[in-house]
Amino acid sequence: MQEKKTFKKVPIRYIKGVGPRKSDLFGKIGIETVQDLFYYLPRRYEDRSLMVEIKDLRPGLVQGTIGKITGIEIFRAKTGKCIVEMVITSSGRKLFAVWYNQPFMKKFFEIGQIVALYGKIELQKRLQITHPTFEILDNKKLEDSLNIGRIVPIYSLTENLNQKYLRSIIKNALDTYLKSAADLLPTRIRARKKLVDFRYAVQNIHFPRSGENLERAYKRLVFEEFFVLQTAMAKRRGKIRKKGIAHKINSAILPDFEKLFSFSFTDAQKKCIKEIERDMAGSKPMHRLLQGDVGSGKTVVAMRAALIASANEYQTAVMAPTEVLARQHYVSFSKIFMPLGINVRLLISGIDNKAKAEIKKEISLGESDIIIGTHSLFQEDVEYGRLGLVIIDEQHKFGVRQREALRSKGVMPDLLVMTATPIPRSLSLTVFGDMDVSVLNEKPSERAAVATCCLDENKREAVYKFIREEVKKGRQAFIVYPQIKAKDITETRAAVEMHQHLQKDIFNDMRLALLHGRMAPEEKKDIMVGFRDKKFDILIATTVIEVGVDIPNVTVMVVEHAEKYGLAQLHQLRGRIGRGRHASYCILMSRGASEVSAERLSAIVQTDDGFEIAEKDLDIRGPGEFLGTRQSGLPELRFGDVVKDFAIMEEAREEAFNLVKDDPELKDVRNMELKNSIQERFKW
Ligand code: ADP
Ligand code: MG
Repeated sequence: MQEKKTFKKVPIRYIKGVGPRKSDLFGKIGIETVQDLFYYLPRRYEDRSLMVEIKDLRPGLVQGTIGKITGIEIFRAKTGKCIVEMVITSSGRKLFAVWYNQPFMKKFFEIGQIVALYGKIELQKRLQITHPTFEILDNKKLEDSLNIGRIVPIYSLTENLNQKYLRSIIKNALDTYLKSAADLLPTRIRARKKLVDFRYAVQNIHFPRSGENLERAYKRLVFEEFFVLQTAMAKRRGKIRKKGIAHKINSAILPDFEKLFSFSFTDAQKKCIKEIERDMAGSKPMHRLLQGDVGSGKTVVAMRAALIASANEYQTAVMAPTEVLARQHYVSFSKIFMPLGINVRLLISGIDNKAKAEIKKEISLGESDIIIGTHSLFQEDVEYGRLGLVIIDEQHKFGVRQREALRSKGVMPDLLVMTATPIPRSLSLTVFGDMDVSVLNEKPSERAAVATCCLDENKREAVYKFIREEVKKGRQAFIVYPQIKAKDITETRAAVEMHQHLQKDIFNDMRLALLHGRMAPEEKKDIMVGFRDKKFDILIATTVIEVGVDIPNVTVMVVEHAEKYGLAQLHQLRGRIGRGRHASYCILMSRGASEVSAERLSAIVQTDDGFEIAEKDLDIRGPGEFLGTRQSGLPELRFGDVVKDFAIMEEAREEAFNLVKDDPELKDVRNMELKNSIQERFKW
């Protein structure tokens, strides 16, 4: 019984054949315990199950055969090469096995032994196989071979670990420990989903008896992985759903609220506002993700939520990812709320310490109503007097743990996370699986569409001319570069150098400004404000402008080295323009574009639908890249692929949420293994 609980944690060095020195090697590929070994997924498999008689071997094919060793010798060729040559015989037919410059090979074999060989068959006046995989079968049957006569697992390795050795160690671990492994999947779920049990799955993921068995094993392990993840999500959600603030909602105020804006709300905005009102009225804390493409008007929805909190005498914290964006929100929130007697404060590192201390004090006394800032909003020394609502803007890079940390600042405030990167459902179930989702799937109609085109770099002159024309009409332009400074001799253009070059050689009669991430916050702010106030015509920038910047007078965006960006990111960038009533143009420049990048870029030219682009981007780049950083909150998955295995994830999610409904704390002994796995795997 003791063993049952703890075998998974048995350090690898206790497995027969490992020992302390080898165990370090395993550490290099992330294997420390028996469990790690169980879950070490082969990189691929090689089907070596087909064995033929020596007489039936066909030169040119990769085949396996069995024979008796009838000769072995070592000699030196004229070229100086050392050659080990072995002859195996079966039914009077011979096969020569040859190893070059591996004199030690001779020591492995003895005349009279039965061996299985596997490799490419050659005809060099005689039937020959060079550097074959081999297995001496003397005391065992072919079925027991780990390397020949079966579907063989091929693992990722590190120096001084080889396939054969790793296979033998995994075999030893399976033989010793697998029989005591408990299954975390409840039997009824396994039965319902027709999933094989844990032991079968682990055995067959390493040493499958057939392709079908392997498939069953894989499916079970993928399901298990998603199931553990989704159970964690469900549990988390259950915990959040305890007690929060039941805000009083006065829906009658909505028309008046709408009148504060120069436009009327879209149906999508109204729908999302309804959903948020319902959440905030409930006694359980809101935990909602608001997804809306760039320019879909999320800010208005957020403002409505803040208005509800204020009306209930609670504070709202609005967290933006950059200071530029925080300032922008500060301006737009102030415009709406200050006249209503609701005060708005800005808390960012760019303000002086005395003012900061003052604001913090106000926040702690509950005197400030809406506080806008960056990460600094949730630093240790910021205390909220009566925090009731947290809004996180443009934060798809924000994982579960971070969300949890900031929520601990108040007594379960309502939470609204907004993202402009449309996240395909497969990903949002993984990263935001514990949240409700609202989608702003409609853009304000006033916005002019952005015409997008891809141009080769040799059209640069024409592009400059076009910018010039737009500026003459009183418009402004962005030119975006992928990096700040050029590194040594580089092919890639960079913002700093290009700013100088363009100002001096191309647009010397115009006013250019430079903006990038390594500038001081104060300087960045001045540039942005200056640009917005039309003190500059052209802004040379890096992707710092990607997030949230809203300047309606900009009608041209040129993205240099467009092939270096992800689609979602390009879409984000493009969303920075077309914010006014003028026709706008996004020009993607790339050099000798490869076919893949041409295809990718064409996706962005063809559609303006962020979700469509996101699906495509996810497809091309995979989830890790898609979400960007390690901070993304994407749990590490060993087996499942959130895109490919999405159907399995949905099934696992349904089962997981049902299970947690019945047993919210996983107290049932039958769920103990599951509970432990959640702890271990996701550390929540
Ligand atoms: P995002 O979803 O990208 O954050 P914003 O909230 O910044 O979008 O809105 C983009 C622009 O559209 C802003 O200038 C905003 O004032 C405007 N806007 C928002 N809602 C509407 C609407 N219903 N009709 C017209 N313009 C709107
Ligand atoms: Mg926004």
